[in-house]
Amino acid sequence: MKNKDKLFHQDTNAIRGGYEPTHENEHSEALFLTSSYVFESAEVAAKSFSNEIEANVYSRYTNPTVRSFEQRLALMEEAEQAVATSSGMAASLAVIMALLETGDHIICSRDVFGSTRILMDKYITKFGVEVTYVPLTDLTAWQSAVQPNTKMFFCETPSNPLSEIADLEALSQISKQAQALLVVDNCFCTPVLQKPLQWGADIVVHSATKYIDGQGRALGGAVLGSAQLMDQVQGFLRAAGPTMSPFNAWIFLKGLETLSLRMKAHSASANALAVWLSQHSKVTKVFFAGLPDHPGHSLAKKQQTDFGAVVSFVVEGGREAAWKVIDATQMLSLTANLGDAKTTIVHPATTTHGRLSDESLADAGIEQGLIRIAVGLEDLGDIQDDLELGLSQL
Ligand SMILES: *Cc1c(COP(=O)(O)O)cnc(C)c1O
Repeated sequence: MKNKDKLFHQDTNAIRGGYEPTHENEHSEALFLTSSYVFESAEVAAKSFSNEIEANVYSRYTNPTVRSFEQRLALMEEAEQAVATSSGMAASLAVIMALLETGDHIICSRDVFGSTRILMDKYITKFGVEVTYVPLTDLTAWQSAVQPNTKMFFCETPSNPLSEIADLEALSQISKQAQALLVVDNCFCTPVLQKPLQWGADIVVHSATKYIDGQGRALGGAVLGSAQLMDQVQGFLRAAGPTMSPFNAWIFLKGLETLSLRMKAHSASANALAVWLSQHSKVTKVFFAGLPDHPGHSLAKKQQTDFGAVVSFVVEGGREAAWKVIDATQMLSLTANLGDAKTTIVHPATTTHGRLSDESLADAGIEQGLIRIAVGLEDLGDIQDDLELGLSQL
């Protein structure tokens, strides 16, 4: 952009931010598939290696396409800096490895993404970092879980699959008092619907695999926050290697251009579907923060611009009934993935949350009759017709 000092709106940044054409004057963003870079002279090589001059050295450190994705996403999240990673899980791993050490303590919301739980329970704790789980919305529980060695709060909002909403402003107050960093997994909302840093979070992590791609093609992730924190995260990634591939960065860079339109369309269909489900005679409960009677509704209205596209509902008859509904649908994709143009349907109790005991499932409020839909971009009437095919089996 020629007027470099103008502050643009998010939808413009999503399309034009973070990229300068090369000497080829290409209009669409170039893809740099190169693992290394050549230097003009031995002296330039030496200065590049010692960081005396800023230069591309090796694509595990920097790559122009990856950097463009980072800069564009940082503009959208209104973060000082972004660091791209090979997956959403690599983003969470990098945050923990870079910023915590043996003897530290994490407080984590109970209903985080399944692999996040496994990462914490099986691997992070192996290095002497303690983890305490608390219910996402119970501020007293977060407060009372604080220990002298607490260094990090980690949460995901809205929660999966029940659409519970964390009070980010309140959580950031508690974390600041405890001198701990608040890390928010913003995968379900993307910066289009929610900017956790504005509510006091220190770090945002993303799985770009979901809505940022939007068409289920590539794995990737990102960490965002202050330059001071991100330099540390990037240091770990450079040394350890779970950085983003340039090809995936190019997909995500182009994905960001349509993210705003897609999130609005996803959310509009999800809202309409949640209302339709809540009036359906075969449905006993609907979990979606866009519904006025959802306990997180007013909080979601405050900190999000829309409610996202994950809708869960309960049918009577437990697992057998839920499976019957799912198996009778003809169009919806039976897969645990979300953030795709294609609508997906899944039975959380036996898939995404299948490793939980009956007691933990009950604790988390995940009933056997619960079905989760991640609403895609197909015609809403066709999505409803397909669900009706399922529900009419009951
Ligand atoms: C998918 C997901 C992740 C992990 O991302 P990957 O790209 O699959 O590694 C983390 N958090 C949430 C909320 C997710 O949905």
